[in-house]
Amino acid sequence: SKPSDELPRFLDSGIYRFPNSNAVFVDPVRLLNRSYNRFRVSPSAYYSRFLEPKHYAQEPTLSSNPNKRKRKPKKQPHSLNEKERAADQRHQEARPLLLKAHESLLGSADFPAIMSKLRSDFCSSTELTGGEEHSFIELGSVWQGPLCDITLNFKFTRLKNETNNEENGKVEQRVLPVFNNLIVNDTHDDVEAEFLKRHYILPRESCFYMSDLGQIHNIIPAESDNGFNLIVIDPPWENGSARQKSLYPTLPSRYFLSLPIKQLTHQEGSLVALWVTNREKLRNFIEKELFPAWGVRYLFTVYWLKVKGDGSLISDLDLFHHRPYECLLLGYCHGKVMNDSEYLSEFGAVKDKQIIISIPGAYSRKPPIGELLLEHVPGVKSARCIELFAREMVTGWFSWGNEPLHFQDSRYFQGE
Ligand code: SAM
Repeated sequence: SKPSDELPRFLDSGIYRFPNSNAVFVDPVRLLNRSYNRFRVSPSAYYSRFLEPKHYAQEPTLSSNPNKRKRKPKKQPHSLNEKERAADQRHQEARPLLLKAHESLLGSADFPAIMSKLRSDFCSSTELTGGEEHSFIELGSVWQGPLCDITLNFKFTRLKNETNNEENGKVEQRVLPVFNNLIVNDTHDDVEAEFLKRHYILPRESCFYMSDLGQIHNIIPAESDNGFNLIVIDPPWENGSARQKSLYPTLPSRYFLSLPIKQLTHQEGSLVALWVTNREKLRNFIEKELFPAWGVRYLFTVYWLKVKGDGSLISDLDLFHHRPYECLLLGYCHGKVMNDSEYLSEFGAVKDKQIIISIPGAYSRKPPIGELLLEHVPGVKSARCIELFAREMVTGWFSWGNEPLHFQDSRYFQGE
């Protein structure tokens, strides 16, 4: 069959909706690029792990379902303990949906074109600069931290002479403490910032507050009508991965009980989206302790299914300790104005079991799902959005964490 109208829409938006399916395929690079005017996120820097164009020099083929290859033997059910059985039950519930979503991708007439486009973007892209990146986690934790400044170079372009459209750039510099301080790009253009000789790109209309969890109370808005309608949280959950331990510190789950979700919530309520791992103990803790402590009522789960550049899953679907998917738990925190029943009648008809498919980027980096969640967000038309434990910035969002500038380093971008 022929490529559909959905393909040009995807090339523009980064979101591909499969017909008659609750699955979408997203290209995080295209989604992120909507935050920038002059800069472009570098596909080769983003897709450094699972898109290896050299391995797929040929057109992708659908002749064999990659999911059927290399199937590893299943763990025998009798060797599962009680927690493992509960986890397996959750998995068995999700399994048919995930398989169906994966089939939608592989069976789509646009699939070969999508993947070959991503590969050609990858091959033709460059990274701006190399070199050693700064570790904000380390810098923020030493005594010199509070003394560090960042320089924002606001570039205002105006037309000097309308007849020949010659542009004249005026630069205004602002020097601000980088830690424990709200840093805002309130202009309609990307801003380049300099910090200890490295460059960072701040998207238009975005802001960040870089601090340790101990300082999070500083971002609580004074008035609840300045609160947030969408709160995305990707906590540094403890897990056994040595890889993770070297990349960022983790915290015991009980530390997240004190996250001020209620105080961050807009008076018209908020949609809370929490990334979780597949550990059963954690899922229990969230349902029984964390959501109740935050005043959040569980709504539904979104699955993120991870594929490689040839469309195959990054690991066998049934691998117990390395699932090729992660879960995003959606909940609702009511504000002062709208009550639960109003919200549930307006937004409660949400479709359960949505599946987002993408090729993963760097370790633990999540796809930018803000736009896909907006349709479920209560309250005002232009939602106020915040990401907690963020490692990047997005137009219209407040990014908080101990390294929200991490992926804003110019090495993740290609030139103007
Ligand atoms: N969502 C992010 C992404 O897509 O790239 C990944 C977030 S990662 C799971 C958790 C983040 O929490 C890391 O950036 C880590 O440095 C940060 N973090 C760990 N301990 C923290 C603390 N005490 N205060 C603030 N942030 C912390």
